[in-house]
Amino acid sequence: MSELHRFLFEGLPVRGSIVRLTDAWQEILARRRGSSGGEWPHPVVELVGEMAAAGALMQSNIKFNGALVLQIFGDGPVKVAVAEVQHDLTLRATAKVVGPIQANASLADMVNVSNKGRCAITLDPKEKFPGQQPYQGMVPLWGDKHEKIARMSEVLEHYMLQSEQLDTKLILAADERVAAGLLIQRLPAAGENNLAGSMVSKENEDQIGVNEDYNRIATLAGSLTRQELLELDVDTVLRRLFWEEKLMRFPSQRPAFACTCSRDRVSNMIRGLGRDEADSIVAEQGEIDVSCDFCGQQYKFDAVDAAQLFAPPGDQPPVSSEVQ
Ligand SMILES: [Zn+2]
Repeated sequence: MSELHRFLFEGLPVRGSIVRLTDAWQEILARRRGSSGGEWPHPVVELVGEMAAAGALMQSNIKFNGALVLQIFGDGPVKVAVAEVQHDLTLRATAKVVGPIQANASLADMVNVSNKGRCAITLDPKEKFPGQQPYQGMVPLWGDKHEKIARMSEVLEHYMLQSEQLDTKLILAADERVAAGLLIQRLPAAGENNLAGSMVSKENEDQIGVNEDYNRIATLAGSLTRQELLELDVDTVLRRLFWEEKLMRFPSQRPAFACTCSRDRVSNMIRGLGRDEADSIVAEQGEIDVSCDFCGQQYKFDAVDAAQLFAPPGDQPPVSSEVQ
């Protein structure tokens, strides 16, 4: 069972969370294997798994009522990688691979060949008022001296420091069975923070990099190897790293795979293409056949269905009993 645990270090301005995606992650990979795109090479499995684990950790930290979406827009053989986590920790993830990937490909080899890869973090509210845009922050995949960043965890650490002014230590790992992550974060000096409304204050800024409690705990967390993170259960990891600290643990949560695609959403997408484009696809291929990149679900629209999409309201036939 996939699990996520949040905890506080008693009396210290430090919080943490740890996630192990097992069944949820295996479901994502199984659906991928069964899709026309086929199985991902191992480095892509690692990248997408780390993004899924990080997305779950970040969502559980801010408890945002909507979707938290981590996206990498790559300039190499992986064109895009996405992990999307809802408020209830249901999640989905995918990647688009457009070129060959070496067995030992690094993050840069996959998505940052000419240092033009980017990472976007989007918060898309569940209930939007008219015209409301999702909040989006973007970071490059290079560090302070334009050097290429080697790990997904570092990209996100940079993001948290830049946008939230919060020291964050992140350890991520994934293989074909588990996607896991450990996050340690210094609590803001005052008040609550979240990704959308960041805690930018002098008091908080002064604490960056100098809080001794945070530094000690982050160093302990940093001693965890990726292999240990993949293999050990949550209690063992926390005990080994923090046996000298007082942890206050919250009830555990259960992340799960779920896809938010629907025939309605696909219909809207086809409407977005416009009537002419839709008609020409039907003329060429006999139908419009869309399959979801996340879950593999197929949605087919024949000529009659397609025409219906563009019929004026009030001109719809009675609801059919056919199950979609
Ligand atoms: Zn889907």
